[in-house]
Order: sequence, then structure tokens, then C-alpha cells
Amino acid sequence: RGERLRLPPWLKTEIPIGKNYNRLKNTLRDLNLHTVCEEARCPNIGECWGGGEYATATATIMLMGDTCTRGCRFCSVKTARQPPPLDPDEPYNTAKAIAAWGLDYVVLTSVDRDDIADGGAEHFAKTVSNLKERNPQILVECLTPDFRGDLAAVEKIALSGTDVYAHNVETVRELQRHVRDPRANFDQSLSVLKHAKQVRPTLLTKTSIMLGLGETDQQILNTLTGLQEAGVDCLTLGQYMQPTKRHLKVEEYVTPERFAYWEKVGNDMGFVYTASGPLVRSSYKAGEFFLKNLLK
Ligand code: SF4
Ligand code: SF4
Repeated sequence: RGERLRLPPWLKTEIPIGKNYNRLKNTLRDLNLHTVCEEARCPNIGECWGGGEYATATATIMLMGDTCTRGCRFCSVKTARQPPPLDPDEPYNTAKAIAAWGLDYVVLTSVDRDDIADGGAEHFAKTVSNLKERNPQILVECLTPDFRGDLAAVEKIALSGTDVYAHNVETVRELQRHVRDPRANFDQSLSVLKHAKQVRPTLLTKTSIMLGLGETDQQILNTLTGLQEAGVDCLTLGQYMQPTKRHLKVEEYVTPERFAYWEKVGNDMGFVYTASGPLVRSSYKAGEFFLKNLLK
């Protein structure tokens, strides 16, 4: 239990705001959409909503409420054994609102709902199919729970019409128990990613790792190798930030140079893309990366 580390200068910089930001911000008002971007006060909002060279505004929407049945030690989402029931109209209403909002790329994510038989997979899948029906052009990424390894649940989402199947392993294999809820583990998460790819080989699969939790370089490398062997296509690496004093401490602020090194390692290993940087989050400029690498 040492002192808390001081925030390094590279985490205090102002982030640019792209051209679509104001339009998205103003049109969100009446849509009743819960974006993770705003609710988690994500520092990347100007870039993600603003769009980049490929003009793809990206936003992340939270489904199935704000209360999780799990309690990971890095996450500030509230926890309950029995969160309120799902809103049966959510798949329709959310799809309608997203379609009206005018995004190019949307990440749909959710809390874990271990209290529901299929973990909410059907609900997730319905949201995607409703959205694709209204707006076939929109690119959809589902960032899902592990469904306790229930591959039928994974299959429902993989076949829903989503373009990207994302599930985060969060940290290296050795730190899983220390960082994630005990119901999660590395192999279970790998099985989710592998199955999504098996069910629909044209899907892109994607995962994310936080650095700064005390992992070693060798552990990172082994983790990347494991992901590659599981057929994972895209990778993001970002700095872990402690949300409150009750959460896991930051062990290290990894330098931008080191993140750049891991980006190069990922690219050399042959991942479709690797996004790596102190402020990178799993959905960071996802549309921009997707289009840039698919148009290559
Ligand atoms: Fe939203 Fe994710 Fe971008 Fe943050 S990184 S602004 S949560 S899309
Ligand atoms: Fe947070 Fe996801 Fe863990 Fe729930 S399962 S506590 S939302 S990281």
C-alpha cells in the first residue's frame, strides 16, 4: 500500500474536438439515449463524436440498465444481485433513436446480467436487428459480457447482423482473478471470442486490455499470442485509471512511447488493427479504425 502515483503530463492534455461533435451533442437532447461517452465523462468524446479522416462518428450506448450483477475491481458501475427487469421496449426504442441520431458506427454494450437466463443476449440481438432494419449502412459493434461461457448466447449476437463482436479480456491472464469479478476468467473470455468467429467467420472480433495494473512485458506478450491463436482480429490497449479510492490502484502510468511499442508489436503480429495509447478505450474511434483498415 504505497502512495498514489501522480498523474503524468500526457494524461492532462486537451483533446481535439472534431467537426461533427456539436451536431451530435445538440441532436442527442430529445432522443433519450444513454451514452457511455457522456455518462462516464470519457475524455475522447471530442474525437469519437467529432469523427476523423474517414468522417466516422463513433459513440457507445449502454443497454440493459445501469446496474451490473458483477463487481470488477476496476469498474465504477453500480452492482446489485437483482437489478431492475429489462425494458422490453428498449431494443425498439434504442434502435429508433440511434438511427435518428446519424452515427456511422455505434458500439452497443451492456452491464452483465447474470440474473437473466440468456444474460440478455436476445435483447442485445433484437436491438441490432431493429437498428440494421432501419439503417442498413450503420456499422454496429456489440461489446458483450461473457455470458458465463454460454455459447448459445454468443451465437445469438454473432448472428444478429452485428459487424464487430467485441468482448474484453481486460487484463493479462495472470491478473484476471485480481482485476475482474471471480465469475470471469481468461479462457472463458477467449471461448466467447473464438465462438463468435466460428459462427460467422466474416465478423471482426475485438478485445481490449488495460495496462498499468502491474503486468509484466512477458505477460502482455503471452496474452497477445493467446488472443492471436484464438483468431481475435482487433486489439486495443489503454491505461487503467482508478475511478475511486475504493478501486484498484494504478501500479504504473505507462508512457506513450511504450504504448506505441505495443501498437507496433500488435501490427507486426498481424492483427487487423491495434489501437494503443494512454487514453485509448475499447471503443476509441472504433469507426475510424474500422473504415481505415477495411478500405486499405
Ligand atoms: Fe465514447 Fe468509447 Fe469514444 Fe469514449 S472511447 S467517447 S466511450 S466511443
Ligand atoms: Fe463493470 Fe462489466 Fe465488471 Fe460489470 S462486468 S462490474 S459493468 S466491468
